[in-house]
Amino acid sequence: MAHQVPMLELVDRLAIGNLVRTGGELVGPCPGCGGKDRFSINPAKGVIFCRRCDAKGDQIALVQLVMGMDFPAALDWLVGPRQELTPEQRAAQARKAEEHRRAREADAERRRQDAIALARKIWAAARPADGTLVAAYLERRGIRQRPGVALPRCFRFEPQARLVVPDDQRRGEFVTVHEGPAMLSAILDAKGQLTGVHRTWIDLGRPKGKVVAPHPFKAGEMVPSKKVYGSKKGGAIRIFTPRDAATLVMAEGIETTLSAMVARAIEGAAFWAGVDLGNMAGARLLGKGQKYEGLPDMSDRDAFVPPAWVRRLVFVQDGDSDPRLTRAKLLSGLRRARALRPGLTAAIVHPGEGIDMNDLLMGAPDVTQREGDE
Ligand SMILES: [Zn+2]
Repeated sequence: MAHQVPMLELVDRLAIGNLVRTGGELVGPCPGCGGKDRFSINPAKGVIFCRRCDAKGDQIALVQLVMGMDFPAALDWLVGPRQELTPEQRAAQARKAEEHRRAREADAERRRQDAIALARKIWAAARPADGTLVAAYLERRGIRQRPGVALPRCFRFEPQARLVVPDDQRRGEFVTVHEGPAMLSAILDAKGQLTGVHRTWIDLGRPKGKVVAPHPFKAGEMVPSKKVYGSKKGGAIRIFTPRDAATLVMAEGIETTLSAMVARAIEGAAFWAGVDLGNMAGARLLGKGQKYEGLPDMSDRDAFVPPAWVRRLVFVQDGDSDPRLTRAKLLSGLRRARALRPGLTAAIVHPGEGIDMNDLLMGAPDVTQREGDE
């Protein structure tokens, strides 16, 4: 019974403030012990977690934490006494929850708009990519620019970009781990507006051309050499879109998408990078035994959907630690696209288990390409 109350509804009923949506979770101060971002709620899994105090568990644990109740009282609050409320009391409760939901969504939208404004500022300040380290970086990845042909306009160059991580000691502060040249890629939303940028820090002294920076606070860990600013939801990095294209080829990463493009995998196709697998997959149905089924949750309105001109959608699967899960996510995206674009055909291609398309291009052992139609 308690688990039937959706987490988001509960957040509104309890009027928990200051939570920010990041990667499918709500993150913010812990209602029990405060802080800034130590507390998270995963609505899909119906669980809460605090890094600092003992708070973790389900809906009842959340009520216990916020209301300071013991288990029986929290259970009562959640599913019991509601039946004993008068219709007026119940209406007042619903009204309060609705007000909180609106405030939460307005707050999330404000933060999104701020992030988009920052991404546009970064983009506006960057330089054209031709003749810069961006061309050299792509060449290092096996993607050679043809003489006289300009680089795709979705790329720009930044001579000096800061790579930062949150400070371990001072909350809200950041520590610079690297500063140097970067490749910037534009993320356009479904309407073709710039809503985000993707940054890759370049170091041609490294085999893959990317910066390798040890994490200052996590021993043995590296700081990712790429980062997205702004909003990627429903968006893509539109590398190449020929006139009259009817096929869209999409991989998660920029280098993989470019590799498929220079390999001339499909003539006349458009090549876009999906930026992140979650954006390509969208929310999935994750009931018992559904983890690998690849069933899209069609109530998700934020996931990537191909434009109406796309008649055939091809997802490129990368070498990955969990190929079964990756495939399930790609399937979910393809099925969502087919449901929303009647007549669309779709396929997943991958160069082989554990193999990265760009590694192939950079000279890894030759492997036969496989294609499985969905
Ligand atoms: Zn806590």
